[in-house]
Amino acid sequence: MAWAQDYVEGEVIVKLKADEGTTDSYAFLGKAYSSKNMALKNKWGRLNLYHFSFKSGKGGKSVHQIVEELKSDPTVEYAEPNYIIRKASVTGLSETFSKSEIQTMAAGGGYLATGAPIQAVEVWSTLSTPPPKPVVAIIDTGLDTSHEVFVDSHAIWSNPSEIPGNGIDDDGNGFTDDVNGWNFVTGDGNMYDDDGHGTHVAGIVLGTGLDIFQTPFDESKVQIMPLKFLDGQGVGKTSDAIKAIYYAVNNGAQVLNNSWGGPSYSKSLHEAVVYSYNAGTSFVVAAGNSGKDNDSTPMYPANLDVPNVISVAATDDSDYLASFSNYGFLSVHLASPGVFVLSTVPGNSYGTSSGTSMAAPFVAGVAALMKLESPQMRGYQIRDIIMSKGDHASSLNHKVATEARVNVKSAVDQARVAELYSNDPSYSMADRGLASAAASGGGCGLVTKVYRDFNKGGPGSGATPSPSLWYIGLVIGLLLLPLAIASILRRQQPSRRQYERFVVNTAVTVKSGERELVASISSLSMGGVKLDTDALLEQGGIVKMTISSPDGGDDLQVEGRVVWSEARKSYGVQFEEARTSVLDRIQNWTKNLTKAS
Ligand code: CA
Repeated sequence: MAWAQDYVEGEVIVKLKADEGTTDSYAFLGKAYSSKNMALKNKWGRLNLYHFSFKSGKGGKSVHQIVEELKSDPTVEYAEPNYIIRKASVTGLSETFSKSEIQTMAAGGGYLATGAPIQAVEVWSTLSTPPPKPVVAIIDTGLDTSHEVFVDSHAIWSNPSEIPGNGIDDDGNGFTDDVNGWNFVTGDGNMYDDDGHGTHVAGIVLGTGLDIFQTPFDESKVQIMPLKFLDGQGVGKTSDAIKAIYYAVNNGAQVLNNSWGGPSYSKSLHEAVVYSYNAGTSFVVAAGNSGKDNDSTPMYPANLDVPNVISVAATDDSDYLASFSNYGFLSVHLASPGVFVLSTVPGNSYGTSSGTSMAAPFVAGVAALMKLESPQMRGYQIRDIIMSKGDHASSLNHKVATEARVNVKSAVDQARVAELYSNDPSYSMADRGLASAAASGGGCGLVTKVYRDFNKGGPGSGATPSPSLWYIGLVIGLLLLPLAIASILRRQQPSRRQYERFVVNTAVTVKSGERELVASISSLSMGGVKLDTDALLEQGGIVKMTISSPDGGDDLQVEGRVVWSEARKSYGVQFEEARTSVLDRIQNWTKNLTKAS
């Protein structure tokens, strides 16, 4: 089996067949220490799951060798690498604004995206507020816990049994001074956000229940539990993601937001998600930003076939699927806004970011508000309602299972009146990424099936479609789009050049999501092109290009990602996974051309 993504050298995750404390498990641990030089880093006793380090590099063994050796051990159920996983935003925080700038911009707005089913409504004034507030775990890069929005709205979860700063694990949960959550990167209770991603994601969750741009801030209706496992570059380990999931569930989170992922299937991560399902939580996941079909190119944990998992694609302000967004009729449940979303930024600031990372937390926020209305509601029931109450968008036809974008108000309204049924759906421990290729041939996918079964007889079936209503915090973000886009584009820096560029003047057909346009290319290299067009291309977006050769006698098709732009006129597009044959042809095309300065 190919390991499609990086993994941590010198580490492995092992599941034993034997229970913890049995002769077999002791025998295995003894053997691991003595004959394989493996050191135990962490264990999840009830699951018989162990995280080991071992000597790698010179004189040591490769992860591949160790995994193969362990697989042949009869006491081992499975062994796998500790995969590296990444945040799922396509751009960093592109632009920041102070609160006064935000308010000036909002006041000077007046732009409403045409065609989008958007209407500002005061949804939340009608909500009942039974205690306690639902807890949403933000499993991410951390949180600026001193940001005014979180402080003033009293949004940050606090561990009731932990006494701050006494150096004692007061509640005996295995974490000392975990007052507001835990940092799995540094192993302490300080959740500082050295990336900004987690703070942005948390603001979106909070923003589904209150206006995060309007002071004085209302009291939050949810609690944010920050769990940091991604570092300052938005990179983390599967083992830390697993620890964060167990921490979230064991310490009372009802919704887990996961704006991260990777292409490799991990059984131990799968088991952690099943654990969250059995505890009744919602597990909301970004579908990923490669512009690919998750049915054939799976992403994890988005593709895990567990009934509380909600995999979320990103749409823009016109309800078009964002060009960077992954999709999947069998594997992605619905879409949510994820282009230039305005939210909180560390340092008491605000800014925009794009990605399915930004789409998932809208859905996590909805799930939390549904929990507020119906505290007994379980994760799969929340998913059923969110799926059935979305707004249809034709750009999502055959792209996501529901062919719909989330509708916050309709889902929360339905949670208020839904009668709960209890027949926890079963789940599969198979890797659906592998199974779906076979399943799609038969035309029957699990996500689609769950949705269709629900529509036959679940709660809410037969209800008339709700009017298209949308939440004000999001609308503010959308109102600011033209301004935000303009200021982002001003700030883009050209990317570093790795290849020699050549001056050309040739035509290119660019397909970006649903759109197709003709543009011209003014420079070309083995790494990408500079193209000129009046059409606006999304930063981070995936485009499919058909490039004519400079002599007009040939053309080639290649996918690229928009990595920079100048004045909304010129765009740098970097090739994505260009095949050798493509690169050879470009080299041929350019050998007699003038080098660009
Ligand atoms: Ca503790």
